[in-house]
Amino acid sequence: PARTRFAPSPTGYLHLGSLRTALFNYLLAKATGGQFLLRIEDTDRKRTIPDAEKRLYEDLRWAGLQWDEGPEVGGPYGPYRQSERTPLYQTHAHKLLDSGHAYRCFCSAERLHQLAEQRAALGVATDYDRTCASIPKEESDERAAKGEQHVIRLLVPEDYPEFQDLVYGHVGRGKKKRRQDIVAYDDPILLKTDGLPTYHLANVVDDHHMKITHVIRGDEWLPATPKHLAMYEAFGWEPPQFAHVALLVDEKGAKLSKRNFDVDIASYRDKIGVFPETLVNFVALLGWSHNHGNDCMDMEQLVERFHTKFTKGNAKVKLDKLWFLQHKHAMRRIESGEIDDMVKSIVKLVKSTPETQDYEIMLRGRTLEDYVTAILRADAKNYSTAADFVKRNSYLFGSGNPAPRPVSFQGLSTTDLAMVIRGLYEIPADQWNATSLKARVEKIIADVIAAIAEREAAKEADIKNMQKVVNGKVLHFLRSMMAHGQHGPSMFEVMELLGREETLRKLGP
Ligand code: GLU
Repeated sequence: PARTRFAPSPTGYLHLGSLRTALFNYLLAKATGGQFLLRIEDTDRKRTIPDAEKRLYEDLRWAGLQWDEGPEVGGPYGPYRQSERTPLYQTHAHKLLDSGHAYRCFCSAERLHQLAEQRAALGVATDYDRTCASIPKEESDERAAKGEQHVIRLLVPEDYPEFQDLVYGHVGRGKKKRRQDIVAYDDPILLKTDGLPTYHLANVVDDHHMKITHVIRGDEWLPATPKHLAMYEAFGWEPPQFAHVALLVDEKGAKLSKRNFDVDIASYRDKIGVFPETLVNFVALLGWSHNHGNDCMDMEQLVERFHTKFTKGNAKVKLDKLWFLQHKHAMRRIESGEIDDMVKSIVKLVKSTPETQDYEIMLRGRTLEDYVTAILRADAKNYSTAADFVKRNSYLFGSGNPAPRPVSFQGLSTTDLAMVIRGLYEIPADQWNATSLKARVEKIIADVIAAIAEREAAKEADIKNMQKVVNGKVLHFLRSMMAHGQHGPSMFEVMELLGREETLRKLGP
């Protein structure tokens, strides 16, 4: 069983990329009968957004990613918020000091700044020059005891440990590049001057203490992994398995960011009305694939099919796919009768959209909920979102003034049209349902064809041809009068939904 974790920093809200990271970790835990942990990495207090943590909980729960251990639910290895674990990190930084894997650095901010400037001028990375690494331990202890400001840095090994990444495969020793004989070491800071840990230290210490077996995270963390492994070695700990999953890019191949893409989960949920199962399904397919044919999967199916053979290379985010999946999941919901949420959001929209303010006229004794349900069933095959649904079906929610009836319609004469309308008037109220309407309208069309055939003295063969054409024209005529030409439910369903009175009213006097 895998123990996995999602370790967000509360410096922003859940977005497509972090939802995917959380999901992969969740799926691996569930697929192996393990545990999924949530850990809040709030070591960077300056960048913390006050409501980020609360929103993270809400968004994760909305997506169905309930954590087994973590804030609000507890667990055996808590607390699960790094700001509450400071002493643990301090102890561990000192362990590395004692074993010679770390050293105190007393360099002033000005000196580090100067170093950085020199390096920048030469075009090399702004790493540290290890001046403080040679301070004898006793002197270092003494200066610290006197209260001299310092940080603790990791003394990285000459060669980083090799490792197997579940996505990248073998990751080798990656010698540090040296340029122009500049001696530079990327000895990361573990403990800051205020005694608080950096991400590197807290992350490794926690993954170990929380018994994490697999770390699935975005591949922006791949360069930091050798340092983390060096720390595992220094502590003498067994490292977890790593999987650095593909970067999300837009259709043009640019990295997704707030500037080029709407990545905030809340906007998909609140503005567009995407279902949680749709969004989860959508992000699951970014950097991961399966061979079960049907891409439409709910959480249970994802858990069943999950494996860790992730796909390499950037993952393109294509919104067409999101709409496709949303439509599939909508059909699933409608078929299984789970439509309460859909009906609720549609009702809310109908009431607040100016174009659909006249909906009450259309109800004829039905509740708006029942009416919406009936339309939803009739228009299931076209559903994508509540907003789109209300827009495309707005003609069913407003009386609106009927369009003026044309004198003729695509070759149907005034008499032909009059025949159609007279035929509809003759259908009694108790037969005003889609099934009877279909039979009656077919009969009307047959009569119209007979009249045209007589008028034009058509031959038997021509009449056969006429049938399809006239049928299409009559239905098109009805649709243009009743549905403003909008595609959606069949014409007979539209007429049943509108009711006899409203249908006839829309045909004009
Ligand atoms: N706190 C890091 C982040 O916000 C976690 C990275 C990791 O999973 O190790 O992305």
